[in-house]
Amino acid sequence: MTRVFIGLGSNLADPAAQLASAVQALKQLPGSRWAGLSSLYTSDSILAGQPRYTNAVAALDTELAPLALLDALQAIENAQGRVRTERWGPRTLDLDILLYGDQVIDEPRLHVPHREMQARAFVLYPLAELVPEAFVFSDGRTLRALLQACPFTGLERLAAPR
Ligand code: ATP
Ligand code: CA
Ligand code: CA
Repeated sequence: MTRVFIGLGSNLADPAAQLASAVQALKQLPGSRWAGLSSLYTSDSILAGQPRYTNAVAALDTELAPLALLDALQAIENAQGRVRTERWGPRTLDLDILLYGDQVIDEPRLHVPHREMQARAFVLYPLAELVPEAFVFSDGRTLRALLQACPFTGLERLAAPR
């Protein structure tokens, strides 16, 4: 089993309900064991004119290989009605593999650690609920250092999950 962290995001069609439904699907992934969910956070979209986002981070232990996990996550996105239009367009559900154990993966379909996560408050703050701030990324930087460089400004933390 490998501990993985999944970033969840939605800004269409009742985002909190989309995330709740995605959590149920993640809990049923084959070869995997649920390991927890952060609080939900809302923030304005990075792109102007899009609805506000709701984000969270989930932890799983899985026997799925990285690309098999990506396939499974994309199937969940599709099942929840995701339509791919423009890049970074609004979406019912986005599931990103943030971390896959301590592996560094650089393939056409999959980059791990997720390329943008180290600068995204809506990823780092929920992740910090699930891993200690002393956590060290593959490039040697600590979660604490990344949080210090990435202000909480603009994020709103909703109630912790049940
Ligand atoms: P961003 O990656 O900046 O968060 P996005 O999530 O909106 O943007 P998508 O349109 O969901 O981007 O995904 C585009 C492609 O990114 C996917 O088809 C997938 O193959 C690829 N990809 C690369 N690395 C990852 C990863 N770590 N997790 C999920 N998808 C990834
Ligand atoms: Ca994303
Ligand atoms: Ca994505």
